[in-house]
Amino acid sequence: MTAFWESADFDEHERVELVHDRASGLTAIIAIHSSHLGPGAGGTRFWHYPDPEMAMRDALRLSRGMSYKNAMAGLPMGGGKGVILANPARDKTPAMMTAYGRAIEALGGAYIAAEDVGMTEPDMASIAAQTSFVTGLPAEKAGEQGGDPGPYTSHGVFLGVREAVRVGLGKTSLSGVHVAIQGTGSVGGGLARHLAAAGARLTLADIDKARAARLAEELGATAVPAEAIMQVECDVFSPCALGAIFDDESIAALRAPVVAGGANNQLARPEHGDALMQRGILYAPDYVINAGGIIAVTYEYLAQRDGTARDVSRIEASIAGIPERLTAIWERSRSEGTAPSRIADAMAQKLIGRD
Ligand code: NAD
Repeated sequence: MTAFWESADFDEHERVELVHDRASGLTAIIAIHSSHLGPGAGGTRFWHYPDPEMAMRDALRLSRGMSYKNAMAGLPMGGGKGVILANPARDKTPAMMTAYGRAIEALGGAYIAAEDVGMTEPDMASIAAQTSFVTGLPAEKAGEQGGDPGPYTSHGVFLGVREAVRVGLGKTSLSGVHVAIQGTGSVGGGLARHLAAAGARLTLADIDKARAARLAEELGATAVPAEAIMQVECDVFSPCALGAIFDDESIAALRAPVVAGGANNQLARPEHGDALMQRGILYAPDYVINAGGIIAVTYEYLAQRDGTARDVSRIEASIAGIPERLTAIWERSRSEGTAPSRIADAMAQKLIGRD
């Protein structure tokens, strides 16, 4: 048997907690990758993994991803991730959320929880009844603009797309620039509205066809079937749905000179960042362009912790820095001949003291 710390996804994680609560049936993993810059902050995912090893893998990989994302966004936070192993539609109970809140409290602030797949604002509120080490609460608890981080993420992705168009296509205006968006949910839908207002031409797709069609009608865009969106000939392909969408096959079929979108973990494997570069495609590293949401919930948390008002101008200023952070990565990528995804990883590792 391979020792746990020799497994491929173990990357010197500082702490990995296994949580079980007999009364509520809660089983969870809380992984803290790095606390070099602050407490391990990141979402909690509630998912019915077919196998517990996959849950551990997610906790390890996603907590490292949060270390990188928080560091690159200049936040005083380390990287952490919680994973609850159960079916969110069938098994979730208030008692389970309460037990999870107690488990977070017992860590004494080493992990700060936010919302992720399978969690809702009411779930976050149940956790918050047990611990203050939680953020991304319903708006009425967090103050006027708290709650859903999606609009902040969309705004940051919009600024990143505009910068990618400037750097990759030499255009200072989005007017007439053709963007194909995969996924028209919270992030993709918000992005589409920003882009439409800036005069971009849009092609949209969602596995929920009616959702994409409704948005296309509202914005005067074109909707295409979900399976066709990655092959649309366009200026920018913007992934705003699933992770692991770039593999050998999909990269070969891309017909866009720029890839910039909000989905997490877009590259199936690190070498797919190299493959995008070899095809001459400008890639915006996902955790840099999609940091708007974590920026918003982090400042919300800090204000709540310090008993001060949420400083929206600080959030906006930090999101406004996304284009500059991307450009620094692209410039280094060009001068070193290394893929932007690898440059971003190296920069993040240095920031968390692991170079
Ligand atoms: P969402 O659930 O609101 O929207 C996702 C949309 O993608 C849904 O409409 C879904 O039907 C669609 N979809 C799923 N599979 C698809 C496919 N194969 N083709 C086309 N459409 C598909 O989720 P969201 O909050 O908009 O998040 C989207 C992505 O952005 C995720 O990868 C998420 O991890 C990432 N992200 C979100 C935030 C945030 O603040 N919400 C922050 C950072 C990263």
